[in-house]
Amino acid sequence: MIKSPVEFFRTLPKKVCPECGQTVKEQAESYLMECDRCLSKKME
Ligand SMILES: [Zn+2]
Repeated sequence: MIKSPVEFFRTLPKKVCPECGQTVKEQAESYLMECDRCLSKKME
């Protein structure tokens, strides 16, 4: 079955912070899963 282009882009893996559900911007440190806010919270 061929998915429509819209469906394809919708199912692309988007990085989402597991803590707050916010979309995480692509960064050089791509191994980071959390967004900046949750990361700084953890480092306190
Ligand atoms: Zn977060």
